[in-house]
Amino acid sequence: MSSVAVDPTHTAGERKAREVAEAAREQRWTRPSFAKGLYLGAFDVGLIHPYPALDPDAAARGAAFHQELLEVCTAIDGLAIERDDRVPDEVVDALRRVGAFGMKIPQEYGGLGLSLVDYGRALMLVSTVHPSLAALLSAHQSIGVPEPVHMFGSPEQKQAYLPRCAAGAISAFLLTEPDVGSDPARLGTTATPTDDGTAYLLDGVKLWTTNGPIAELLVVMAVVPPHDGPHGGQHGGQHGGQHGGISAFVVEASTPGITVEHRNRFMGLRGMENGVTRFQQVRVPVANRLGREGEGLKIALTTLNTGRLSIPAICAGGSKWALSIARQWSTERVQWGRPVGEHEAISAKLAFIAATAFALESVFDLSARLADTGQKDVRIEAALAKLWASEMGYRVADELVQIRGGRGFETADSLAARGERAVPAEQLLRDMRINRIFEGSSEIMRLLIAREAVDTHLTAAGDLASRDASLGAKARAAVGASRFYVRWFPALLVGQGSRPDAYGDFGRLGRHVRFVERSSRALARHTFYAMARHQARLDRKQVLLGHVVDIGAELFAMSAVCTRATALRHDDPAAGRSAVDLADAFCAQSRLRVETLFRGLRRSTAASDDRLAGAVMAGRLRWVEDGILDPSQGTGPWIAPAGRAERARPGP
Ligand SMILES: Cc1cc2nc3c(=O)[nH]c(=O)nc-3n(C[C@H](O)[C@H](O)[C@H](O)COP(=O)(O)OP(=O)(O)OC[C@H]3O[C@@H](n4cnc5c(N)ncnc54)[C@H](O)[C@@H]3O)c2cc1C
Repeated sequence: MSSVAVDPTHTAGERKAREVAEAAREQRWTRPSFAKGLYLGAFDVGLIHPYPALDPDAAARGAAFHQELLEVCTAIDGLAIERDDRVPDEVVDALRRVGAFGMKIPQEYGGLGLSLVDYGRALMLVSTVHPSLAALLSAHQSIGVPEPVHMFGSPEQKQAYLPRCAAGAISAFLLTEPDVGSDPARLGTTATPTDDGTAYLLDGVKLWTTNGPIAELLVVMAVVPPHDGPHGGQHGGQHGGQHGGISAFVVEASTPGITVEHRNRFMGLRGMENGVTRFQQVRVPVANRLGREGEGLKIALTTLNTGRLSIPAICAGGSKWALSIARQWSTERVQWGRPVGEHEAISAKLAFIAATAFALESVFDLSARLADTGQKDVRIEAALAKLWASEMGYRVADELVQIRGGRGFETADSLAARGERAVPAEQLLRDMRINRIFEGSSEIMRLLIAREAVDTHLTAAGDLASRDASLGAKARAAVGASRFYVRWFPALLVGQGSRPDAYGDFGRLGRHVRFVERSSRALARHTFYAMARHQARLDRKQVLLGHVVDIGAELFAMSAVCTRATALRHDDPAAGRSAVDLADAFCAQSRLRVETLFRGLRRSTAASDDRLAGAVMAGRLRWVEDGILDPSQGTGPWIAPAGRAERARPGP
């Protein structure tokens, strides 16, 4: 088992956050992981090639369901959802009727039992009607009650909740609080065991609860204070035999003491029901606790392992939609004597959108297929897919707005009112933005992935990476580490990717697969150098680690497009040719990004940026903010008097 590097400069809050994250982290790797290998210089294309096949029965069920869902979707007015900021009841009912609330729930509990691939395809489809429909369905079954109950619930809990959820009882997932976003270690909502041992009393406030205002069932994360009572279950709690810790509860939303205080409004995802939920002495029977006391965060994180794949699916859907609009507009719109798509600056954007849309679908599809087969560990793939898809999906939306010019900035309703086609490009940009923030912000995803990427080094280095260890312990660790690195490091110097004829069955994509193999070894060498240089402080080097993670993400995307395009060519050589062209173009674009990221590992402005950020936070650069309305003074018509900037500027 590996340990976290301990740095005495960590604050108490930081240490606690790390300890809690580490305790919730799944540390075992019992199944192979393709993406973990990418970070260790152990590129094993055999784990994803031949492309994982779909189960034919599940695929047939999926196809039949998509047909029904398509009919429902064609009858929904997405622009009305945007305008009214509401999903109409009849739309929710129509989704219920076709079983959309039970897509992932096994058939034995009344659900459709769809594969992750088909579940994602359904999200892709509904998100192009309006993304708040995807939020409604995925908050319910990617993170809401069905998934954790299916994975961690007792047989009684499964019987009690899964058929209800499949029939359309909407659920929500409540972790975030006003003071607790990315750092659940400081969770403030409590679940206090009652004296008679039959229940808990929930107290606290949960923020940004998607589906919260309309949900029938909630999964609530709350801290059980340390205690010796009988609630913790036969195996006891997490703290040396004592019970307590962050725990997960299924809660009936109608229980007395629960109030939805406010419905939040956002820059995008209009129509989504999202609120602030308060718990005051809410009685929850012990039978409603999922797993043991103290397992709540592990349950939440494990649920997210595959639950995270809904965002890549939604991003792939949005990008396909962007491609369709971009194709039509760049052909139709003529400026300076040519369709705008023929001007090189715009054709580059079109090529980026097309290649990225193909890659986004490939990344989602490969990750979901790997998860569906159940033979591979997809923790890192799903996390990479979430990170990469949300970042690239947003860039695609931004480029679409640019291609549409002024019309990209204009709302669909306004376009329609002046007699033009109602194209909500600006809405896509607003809707895509949140994907980089929720279900693990990009910064947090990079930390999580980096933790896994450097895990082998932390394990090998042991006490060498700990500033608290004694000299003797460090010396012993050095011997152990050198034994590991003597075997591991030389393997990073040569590999298949250096042979020009390797990976021949990928045809002309073979050169990109070789690039991935070589880059994977280079990445592992760089990570090793960074580990050797920064040791226990490596986890503070977020910019460097972020580059390491982002290189891995691009390599994963390249691997996904190459294997998927090769499979498509194999199934249908004529149609597959354009898939190979797309994969080739995507890899060429991705390689440029990888080269830039590698350069960033060698040279960066991280140190000077850190100093500059310190100066900003200390208020030493406030003079830069002069000449505008001071936001801290409210939004009144107050403008800094002329000359104030001069007076406020600090002397030399
Ligand atoms: C529309 C919407 C729907 C949501 N739905 C739900 C829901 O259904 N259930 C639920 O429980 N929550 C939900 N959330 C909450 C969402 O998951 C959080 O917003 C997210 O986890 C980030 O937390 P925060 O906003 O408090 O940001 P903070 O944690 O305050 O972070 C602020 C910034 O600092 C960065 N940051 C924080 N810590 C670190 C670090 N250690 N290193 C580097 N950077 C760091 C973050 O990435 C971010 O950029 C929703 C939020 C929104 C806006």
